[in-house]
Amino acid sequence: MKKESIDYPLQYTKGIGPNRSKALASEGILTPSDLIHYFPHSYIDRSTVQSISELYTQLQKQTIFTDFSKVTEISFYTEITILATVCEKKEHQLKGGRKMLAVYLEDGTGMRAKIVFWNRTEYFNKYLSVDDFITVSGRPELDRNTVLFNHPEIEKIDQEDQDLYRGGIILPKYRITESMKNTGISMRLLRQVILSQLSSIDQQPEESFPDFLNKKYNFPDSKKTIETLHFPETAADLAKAREKVKYEEIFYFQIFLALRHKKVQIQEQGIRINPKSALARRLYDNLPYQLTNDQKKVLREIAQDFESGSPMNRLLQGDVGSGKTIVALLAMLMAIDFGLQIAFMAPTELLAEQHFRTLNNFLKDFNIKITLLVGGQKTKLRRNILEDISSGKSQIIIGTHALFQAHIEYNKLGFIIIDEQHRFGVAQRSELVSLAKKSQSESQSPHILVMSATPIPRTLSMTVYGDLDVSVIREMPKNRKSIITKISFNSKLPEIYQFIRTQIKKGNQAYIVYPLVEKSEKLELKAATEFFEILDTEIFPDLRCGLLHGQMLWYEKDDAMNAFLSKEYDILVATTVIEVGIDVPNATIMLIENSERFGLSQLHQLRGRVGRGSDQSYCILVTKDHFQFLLKDKSKELMERKAAIIRLKTMEDTSDGFEIAEIDLKLRGPGDLLGTRQAGLPSFKYIDLVSDIDIVSRARNDAFDIIGSDNQLRKPENAIIRDEYLKRYKPSENYFNIA
Ligand code: ADP
Ligand code: MG
Repeated sequence: MKKESIDYPLQYTKGIGPNRSKALASEGILTPSDLIHYFPHSYIDRSTVQSISELYTQLQKQTIFTDFSKVTEISFYTEITILATVCEKKEHQLKGGRKMLAVYLEDGTGMRAKIVFWNRTEYFNKYLSVDDFITVSGRPELDRNTVLFNHPEIEKIDQEDQDLYRGGIILPKYRITESMKNTGISMRLLRQVILSQLSSIDQQPEESFPDFLNKKYNFPDSKKTIETLHFPETAADLAKAREKVKYEEIFYFQIFLALRHKKVQIQEQGIRINPKSALARRLYDNLPYQLTNDQKKVLREIAQDFESGSPMNRLLQGDVGSGKTIVALLAMLMAIDFGLQIAFMAPTELLAEQHFRTLNNFLKDFNIKITLLVGGQKTKLRRNILEDISSGKSQIIIGTHALFQAHIEYNKLGFIIIDEQHRFGVAQRSELVSLAKKSQSESQSPHILVMSATPIPRTLSMTVYGDLDVSVIREMPKNRKSIITKISFNSKLPEIYQFIRTQIKKGNQAYIVYPLVEKSEKLELKAATEFFEILDTEIFPDLRCGLLHGQMLWYEKDDAMNAFLSKEYDILVATTVIEVGIDVPNATIMLIENSERFGLSQLHQLRGRVGRGSDQSYCILVTKDHFQFLLKDKSKELMERKAAIIRLKTMEDTSDGFEIAEIDLKLRGPGDLLGTRQAGLPSFKYIDLVSDIDIVSRARNDAFDIIGSDNQLRKPENAIIRDEYLKRYKPSENYFNIA
């Protein structure tokens, strides 16, 4: 009995009791404070609920299927709620004994909506009756001039709530789980319990946010915010309260980033590198091209970091082909002139090899020792390499993650460059720093430049890479030809193959890319080989085809790439291993088969492999014929198909990697885009990194300003920030021990 009361303090609350408190506990609601922080997921509100006819007009504006128009207005991933009365039900018998239930709704605005169920039709048929008043939440679409919801979430609204609703009251809707339902926790009960908690004296929420920020943004105080989230008086109040919780959540995260940023600046000693380097000057003066203004700007930013006395922690963003490598190389020369060793990390061995070649090319008359460190090197060779590294003979070391294994001894490692694909989290970065520190007598922190292989949407770079300074290259080199991108269909493949043939006759080369989604490596290998065989022997028997796939060893891949580069192959049949970095200027065609299976950023990366020479290049995205039509189908598959078409259409419409990144984020959400956990990003409860960019950026500016002028949060007006921050972040994440 005693133990119970510790575990479930809510059981003594009126209306709850032992069983219900257990059900609540399984949702993480243990204390009265948890209860009042259990916010509604949505509201039923006359002023904001969508009417069917409004929805119809909206959906008409984004008929992606009929004319492939405007992909920027993607809203189909947003849930929409309508309120309507059931006016008709129809059950259809389908092939294979299955049933489909169609329910028609009206809301007095002159149009009907239709909801369709493919599963559990009996259940829904029983649950819904004509004249029921229900809420419908889901992602609507247009189906032959009718607003259609496939398997939406529905809920009946009883008479009492209906009356409240019609009287203009905004009704909160909470998530009620099965186990909550089973113990008799209803929406009404939850509302009552929360209401009485809110009015009880000893349950007043503490202020968690500073007054000056409340004033600045016209935010309600913490108590009022919580009350409003449960029981808003007006839609405007509600909007403000929601903005506040989002702002507050991201604000404290930005405080965390600002503190860490500040700590590095203040506490860590950087190596002062003189950017006026003779080596860099020499390369600069002999470049076959002019640097773009953006490249020059970034170089200046790097030079400033080098001189500053604090270690550089910089993210360099630029689209594929924007010329990040040469900027990094010029910076490397500054560091070499200063007697420092450099580690340059690539995302794959293949790419490490390519960087190795590129750098050797640029520096062939410079007498600089560049070393490649990758897997698969013979023991003896490896030993020599490690010796060269520790003796300091190697000046630039290029490799993959293997560069940062603990047993490698560097010699005055002072500059680390990470050419990455969103894979490298905050934690790993600090491991590198300690390796580098070990390699120097004075244990100064190395300079770090992270180069992103693809542009990152702004909200994400402000959070995931939020403690880094950011440099952006937006401008592409002038000589770039635009690539013609076209969506095509399987039935057109013969014509496309013919087109490839004519291009090859002209002396160009082609990539044919095929997605492999096999579960096992063995199957994948088989699929790649079979696909290759067909192309090589049946479709292009007269042309020379090479194969490149993920199961090859890096030096086999390298051989295949080299053979393609030296024109021993006309066609390189490949899986996505060619996604990053590969540079063959003579290749002008990229055919991507089953292109609907690729992610948007991935397609963009792949396309970046052509358009590197002086001839016009093409990217042909082949997909299934039926993607041309809107077919009626089960909703999940339909959603996927829609997303696929938006991806392909985006590729046709734009080559701007930054724009593509934003659309990709909308389609996939941040977790999927970055692999959230790897990136060290917390899971946010309220802020939506897709749509709340404005809030993120305000919170970031405020947090960095505050820490900028009070890095210990000692000023009286910042006391609340300090207290609340310490509540939210683990001791290991607090940076108040700044000297
Ligand atoms: P990414 O930013 O994708 O790493 P790279 O650094 O590989 O791009 O550069 C792509 C190509 O563009 C390389 O062949 C490089 O030599 C060339 N390049 C870089 N800067 C310029 C420039 N300012 N003008 C012309 N070509 C450039
Ligand atoms: Mg690159």
